[in-house]
Amino acid sequence: MAEFINTVGAMGSGKTLEAMRMRYNLARRHFGVIACKSPVDTKAETRIETRFKGRIQEDIDFLLGPDDDAIERVHAVAASLHPQAPRLALICDESQFITPQQAAQFRELTDEYGVSVYSYGIETDFQRHFFPGSQRLRELADDTIWLPSVCDGYQLGECGNQARFNTRLINGIFTFVGEQTAIDEEGSAATERPLTTYRALCGACYHLAELS
Ligand SMILES: [Zn+2]
Repeated sequence: MAEFINTVGAMGSGKTLEAMRMRYNLARRHFGVIACKSPVDTKAETRIETRFKGRIQEDIDFLLGPDDDAIERVHAVAASLHPQAPRLALICDESQFITPQQAAQFRELTDEYGVSVYSYGIETDFQRHFFPGSQRLRELADDTIWLPSVCDGYQLGECGNQARFNTRLINGIFTFVGEQTAIDEEGSAATERPLTTYRALCGACYHLAELS
């Protein structure tokens, strides 16, 4: 039986690492594994990347653009697999950036075509609102799994709570207004323009950051 599992967590909770682990496991069990991510995430271009233990990157099969049909893209890749796999699985990283329609296509891939789907992403933005794709994933997946991680405490090292919310910093200063999507530039070379980074905080630390 195919399944549709949505894995979520705050930024830095190891979602991409988990996606890589699942990809490896499925391939060992003779699934034809197809990997994609949204082009909205421009880090690592056509690869997925985790910062765990330095930097690990893996190639993906396609970028799922906002106008793309996920079902067509999966079938196009599946036709090129040699030998053709008896069972297919789709891994989607940075799944907060897919559209609600694509989340519905994931459901259809599972139910109509027997493709197991595993999505990995954050759920809410820096203002604690759902990304539209993330909301639809939660509504449609068989299960949503929360990956725990530790709060990157407002006062560093003084909090051991679970991280729940994502905060945005511009040049190191917390900000609570702006566009829903701005790509994390952690580790990027310094430039003239303001640098956007994120920190994952617990509720209490998010509140302190708001007051700061
Ligand atoms: Zn905290």
